[in-house]
Amino acid sequence: MPAQLIDGKGLALEIRQKIAQDIEALVQKTGVRPGLAVVLVGEDPASAVYVRNKKKACDTAGLYVDDHMLPSTATQEELLTLIAQLNADPKIHGILVQLPLPPQIDSQMVLNAVSPDKDADGFHPYNIGRLVTGNPLFVPCTPKGVIRMIESTGQVIEGKRAVVLGRSNIVGKPVAMLLMHRHATVTICHSRTKDLPGMCREADILVAAIGKAEFVKADMVKAGAVVIDVGINRLDDGRLVGDVDFEPVKDQAGWLSPVPGGVGPMTIAMLLANTVEAATRVAKG
Ligand code: NDP
Repeated sequence: MPAQLIDGKGLALEIRQKIAQDIEALVQKTGVRPGLAVVLVGEDPASAVYVRNKKKACDTAGLYVDDHMLPSTATQEELLTLIAQLNADPKIHGILVQLPLPPQIDSQMVLNAVSPDKDADGFHPYNIGRLVTGNPLFVPCTPKGVIRMIESTGQVIEGKRAVVLGRSNIVGKPVAMLLMHRHATVTICHSRTKDLPGMCREADILVAAIGKAEFVKADMVKAGAVVIDVGINRLDDGRLVGDVDFEPVKDQAGWLSPVPGGVGPMTIAMLLANTVEAATRVAKG
């Protein structure tokens, strides 16, 4: 039987509709409208598309959006000055700095400058520390979306074997941490892993986040597994595909998220959710 599709687009729409209601309730009750600052440096076309989609989703849900488009020649000092202003701005509850930043800018220093209370992406070391210790404030958006997608299958995470492909700070590591906190037994695989296909075959839950087009083949997937495809890869013919070889894996997995229409829309929904949570904390005082 073919896998059931995990419809990230539909799930994200439901979540955004609920968020829109929560925002109006918050505004009515407290006068606080959640505000997100979006900072984009340079003209990277993929980043520009992501930022445009994020802004559109914010507008539709009723968030206040404050966008800052800086030229690719922007200096570290200019960016840090802007972040300091946004940290102090009471209308702003979340700050998103779109990565990657141009080479003259130290990305980690910029992420460290964002107030941990406004760190809607959850990339500040303070928030990473809280995530690791199991007491998260902001959970990074893509990993948070991945967990919501796994939960949407109705499959219990506790006690399962989970394999995460990729160990980046923004996807692989936080996904692994979130799964571990939900009592999965987690293996993280990366470019130096020996017998990666064998590891994958043991996974009840397989999360692919390596950025290699159609890398996960059907013979790497356990029958009936939950497979979440985080990868976004553009093929030479222009098609957008994930890290999972979708068609053959569909006949092997129990649940499978598509690309596009899977993790991408959920990431945006979680950004909105994080900003609303931050504004709610401020409103409660
Ligand atoms: P990174 O490039 O930061 O990390 C990739 C990871 O994959 C590294 O840990 C690397 O291993 C590992 N890796 C690379 N090649 C292989 C291989 N052949 N075998 C095993 N492991 C490998 O990527 P990100 O985590 O930032 O992103 C991963 C993918 O997810 C990308 O396609 C990206 O576009 C997508 N993405 C999608 C998002 C969404 O909203 N849908 C959001 C963020 C990312 P090593 O550490 O050893 O080098």
